[in-house]
Amino acid sequence: MDVFAEKFADVKILRYSVPEFELLDLKKKLYIYNLSQAALCGRDILWDQNNRYNLSVRGVLETIWKTFKGNRESENFHSFEIYLKRVWFSNGIHYHYSTEKLPAGFPEIYFDELVDQSDWDGFSVPSGTRFEFFISEIRDVIFNRDREVKRVNLESDKDLIETSSNNYYQGVSQAEAEAFYANLKANAGSEPVSFGLNSTLVKENGQLVEKVWRLNGKYGKAIEQIVFWLNKAIEYADNELQKKYIKSLIQYYETGDLALFDQYSIDWVKELAGEVDFVNGFIEVYGDPLGIKGSWESIVNYKDTEATKRATILSQNAQWFEDHSPVNPEFKKTEVKGVSAKVINVAMLGGDCYPATPIGINLPNAEWIREKHGSKSVTIENITQAYFLDSMNNGMLEEFAGSSEEIERAKMYGYLAGNLHTDLHECLGHGSGKVRDGVNTEALKNYYSTIEETRADLFALYYIMDEQMIKLGLVPSVEAAKADFDAYLRNGLMTQLTRIEPGKDIEESHMRNRQLIARWVYEAGKDQNIVEFVRQNEKTFVRINDYQKLRELFGQLLKEIQRIKSEGDFEAAKNLVEDYAVKVDRQLHAEILERFKKLDLAPYAGFLNPVYELKTWPCGTPNDVLISYDEDYASQMLRYSADFGFLPMEN
Ligand code: ZN
Repeated sequence: MDVFAEKFADVKILRYSVPEFELLDLKKKLYIYNLSQAALCGRDILWDQNNRYNLSVRGVLETIWKTFKGNRESENFHSFEIYLKRVWFSNGIHYHYSTEKLPAGFPEIYFDELVDQSDWDGFSVPSGTRFEFFISEIRDVIFNRDREVKRVNLESDKDLIETSSNNYYQGVSQAEAEAFYANLKANAGSEPVSFGLNSTLVKENGQLVEKVWRLNGKYGKAIEQIVFWLNKAIEYADNELQKKYIKSLIQYYETGDLALFDQYSIDWVKELAGEVDFVNGFIEVYGDPLGIKGSWESIVNYKDTEATKRATILSQNAQWFEDHSPVNPEFKKTEVKGVSAKVINVAMLGGDCYPATPIGINLPNAEWIREKHGSKSVTIENITQAYFLDSMNNGMLEEFAGSSEEIERAKMYGYLAGNLHTDLHECLGHGSGKVRDGVNTEALKNYYSTIEETRADLFALYYIMDEQMIKLGLVPSVEAAKADFDAYLRNGLMTQLTRIEPGKDIEESHMRNRQLIARWVYEAGKDQNIVEFVRQNEKTFVRINDYQKLRELFGQLLKEIQRIKSEGDFEAAKNLVEDYAVKVDRQLHAEILERFKKLDLAPYAGFLNPVYELKTWPCGTPNDVLISYDEDYASQMLRYSADFGFLPMEN
């Protein structure tokens, strides 16, 4: 199997392999198969959540792609193809990272030509709408730069809802939404449901109303299909607890009752014995500037036994790490509960996890469930491995690493160090620390995600160089920890800027958190020259002069970040993020873009899913599941739209 599939614009499409799928027993294969079908059924939900026009735009673009009879070799048609591929990649018309609207890349007038020379009967038009009116609306959505400008606006001096063009709120202001949910929370007690997680908030006749995402409710047609496949999956579940939580999840989808989602989450956290596991639901809140609404996602996975041993050692020692961390004792957990950790291989990605994919998962998100029942944390081995295989040969390391030792170290220890960093971040980092009584982490508002990711990363950076890691047999030598520091600062100070357009600031939480850490330690260690920028051959490099002192700086910042979270110190969070995480050094940025351009690489990556085929021949009952990897990007996207396109165009 080739890891690399194709490249367009600033995106490369890779493939992940599903190791030893063929060797699983039939029951596990069928379990994975049914869960994988459920993982694909919610795709349209995410598209509609991202923007109300996304499904319509997709329908129009795909019809053109399939039926256009004009010159398919022209430069304009090629630009149109790239635009469609970018829309597929972003699950909508907005760039998946910056969330700004994607440029079409071809003239508006050419859009009319595309429509004219396509099969008019092939276009689906919303009922009661004239074809010409519909097409001109879609043209305006695509080309009008003042419309649907940005999916998630985080500039806090503006109304975050009115200036964000996601579809989570309709006709509602930020102040109204905040008041609505504050009111619900006020009487909710110590175990509040995640208010607002599974609904669109709309204004009807002057009243705020939640349109709940459930069977027979909003998104009901897709949810019906998810429920169908989950019901089929139950009989193949690994154990009784899995059966129980799948049933809770189905009931939650049927009723929209968030208490059932909490029940499901608690059982899901407790269930550790099974080999196969999955996430399916409204989970992450990054798509909503207020951090309330959950975007739909799914991941189906199974345990990687060897690599899980590594993460298990960490979680068995969770209390030791908590006790020895540099944070204020008041903000440490006296008892770290249920930090489970395992390494998994994904078998299917769906919704907000596809095609751009996380490399680790840490759930559930509800703070009280995490504190009381713990959380599940996983590192995704086959995804990180695909990245590593791709990165070994692309020239990035040679261009941006400052010395031959650094390159050696990265080749020798980079993969292990990266995995350990993710393990520490996910298994221990997010689960560590305690919030002061009466403090709600929502006090940090739009800075919360950045601060929380900063905290988890610092935990990883601080501990990867601890002697305990060598004692536990996880780190072979201090060189591996150095490789992690090298990579982290190289990325945080330089290479991640390849994802930012000239003149733009950093918006995305993880990117902000990486620059926050890297810039802060650089500034804090300036007097002692702990980290420096050096110039060689008219190129800038990052050089770490003292790894132990750098580690101490990571510890100092971890202490402060934990304090900010524990006390809900909004002002301090704001200052740190605005001072270190947002602004870009323009001159350095220009240089890096120039060097990066010469490498002709894509800064973003996404993954194709394998294709599973159910075999029922000759007896009619399922007797095997076959896996293949040869489907190309466009074919997969078109197949998903055809087979899993369950929602009407306007929602
Ligand atoms: Zn994280």
